[in-house]
Amino acid sequence: MASYKLLLLPGDGIGPEVAGGLKVVLDTLAETGLATFETETDLVGGCAIDAHGVPLADTTLQRAKDADAILLGAVGGPKWAGVAYENRPEAGLLRLRKDLDLFANLRPAICYPALAEASALKRELVEGLDIMIVRELTGGVYFGEPKEITELPGGGKRAVDTQVYTSAEIERIAHVAFDLAGKRSGRVASAEKHNVMKTGVLWKEVVTRVHSEHYAGIELEHVLADNCAMQLVRRPKQFDVLVTDNLFGDVLSDIAAMLTGSLGMLPSASLGAVDDRGLRRALYEPVHGSAPDIAGQDKANPIAMIGSLAMCLRYSFGLGEAADALDGAITDALAGGARTADIASNGADAIGTKAMAQAIAAALKHRAG
Ligand code: NAD
Repeated sequence: MASYKLLLLPGDGIGPEVAGGLKVVLDTLAETGLATFETETDLVGGCAIDAHGVPLADTTLQRAKDADAILLGAVGGPKWAGVAYENRPEAGLLRLRKDLDLFANLRPAICYPALAEASALKRELVEGLDIMIVRELTGGVYFGEPKEITELPGGGKRAVDTQVYTSAEIERIAHVAFDLAGKRSGRVASAEKHNVMKTGVLWKEVVTRVHSEHYAGIELEHVLADNCAMQLVRRPKQFDVLVTDNLFGDVLSDIAAMLTGSLGMLPSASLGAVDDRGLRRALYEPVHGSAPDIAGQDKANPIAMIGSLAMCLRYSFGLGEAADALDGAITDALAGGARTADIASNGADAIGTKAMAQAIAAALKHRAG
């Protein structure tokens, strides 16, 4: 069986704890013969500032480029609050995303049956929910120029952000969404605001063209982003793959996150172009941050991190069987009653990070026979 090279960047706060949970699962994947990896571990974020004076050392960036995939815990925390803006822990993560040109952010929102009560919505609306939000990550209003605040001659100020997209940027994210839909239910919804924004007009035009030229078998629906927000809360299960720009994706994926119960449950993938080895550049990480309020207490939920590994197996290495087994092991552990404090309903006994990872590893072993 092929052995892939994984770079682990645990980071700060609860990052090293949830990454510890990952190691337990990686060992079990190897033991059961489902997948084997060579792993290297390095620093990113605040811990890298402490060791090297920068949140991402050049040597770490090079290791990231050489790895087949990267798994990152979380960065940041109050200890580095006074660090210069350009050198803050989060700048290490942004540099990784930018230098590896990770333009497609995939965020699944899955509601496990055992956790339907933890959602902000009624059980019947969310039970069995499985949406994949595909957010464009390196373009749009967060990066467009000009981006400035200027003083007005008569007093007051003027702030400008620029929403800008090229057809090439839209094309490549559309391909990611349609390809994913082909492996799921075959449905894509594309969200923009063509009624009031030129970027929305181009977005809709390009997505429509990519669809008609390459993906006749996939169903495409266009939805205005504001209506999409409403539909996500009204009837979320109508969506399967949802593709949208950087700004709308930021907001819509957070809405979808709340449908699933806890931040500790949400994995993500950031994908780039296919490199000369035929592998897509990829960084996998939980959606949550470093959670300084619970760091070092064995309280963090490792499911977002372990779910990120399942995405890695599926999207970087095409190991669908191993990914299904791992996703199934998470479902089994939850169905068996394993709960960290963030997902334990009132009064229920909560277990720690390590015990949750072990429960998932045991369920994985059981599934692998
Ligand atoms: P956070 O996601 O770290 O925490 C928000 C709340 O969710 C906290 O109450 C926390 O205890 C809880 N939580 C988060 N992950 C959890 C888990 N796995 N299990 C159980 N509970 C969990 O967000 P924040 O408090 O706004 O930010 C803390 C730090 O993390 C800041 O420095 C921020 O900049 C950084 N941050 C980093 C990332 C990243 O590394 N990708 C993302 C968001 C925030």
